[in-house]
Amino acid sequence: MPTNKQTSTKAASITVTVMGHVLEVLDRTYTDHPMADVTQGDAYKVLISCLLSLRTKDEVTMPASLRLFELADTPEQMVRLTAEQIQKAIYPVGFYRNKSLTLIEVSRDILARYEGAVPKTIDELLTLKGVGRKTANLVVGLGHQLPAVCVDTHVHRISNRLGFIATNSPDETEQVLRETLPMKYWPIVNRVLVRHGQETCKPIGPRCDVCPVLEDCQQREASPRKRSAK
Ligand code: SF4
Repeated sequence: MPTNKQTSTKAASITVTVMGHVLEVLDRTYTDHPMADVTQGDAYKVLISCLLSLRTKDEVTMPASLRLFELADTPEQMVRLTAEQIQKAIYPVGFYRNKSLTLIEVSRDILARYEGAVPKTIDELLTLKGVGRKTANLVVGLGHQLPAVCVDTHVHRISNRLGFIATNSPDETEQVLRETLPMKYWPIVNRVLVRHGQETCKPIGPRCDVCPVLEDCQQREASPRKRSAK
């Protein structure tokens, strides 16, 4: 594992020390964590909230999760609900009809194959309907408090823009971050980069003028014109 040297393989020109410093600054900047508040370290709640969050904003997902958990927050309780009851609770989450069926199927699967306990490994989680690497990593990390690197489009885009890495896909980003980023930063990397991507380092028109990590940013993809836009 590189320490204060240049990172290797697909990692870019930024040092591991600078990566850590950037993540610590962002951790102090973005302190709230709505998903953690709603799910309270419960792996099943993390899984359900993640499935609801696909293609849906946090402001819609989190209240919908809370409404649903009032009715059911275990697989046993979820399979007793009808799809219509779930739909009514989670509306207006995107694709709420399909998601209601997915939640029932996933809950039945967890009961049938895992005795009602959400699996702890990425490979097992990937066998559940609708679960991709992003969701699997979030369940392992936030739900089970085990080492995991959850990479979504924000984490992939901003890690590259900052200069942490030089990769072409979220899966490749996950692999390179696992190789280069010290494990103590794994629990925060998703939260802080997602929030930074939503609020400051937007895909178009990143707000570099108010960015707390401007000095350490390689600004790999942002054009000068867009960097200066508010
Ligand atoms: S300086 Fe600009 S491009 Fe770099 S992380 Fe901050 S907002 Fe993003």
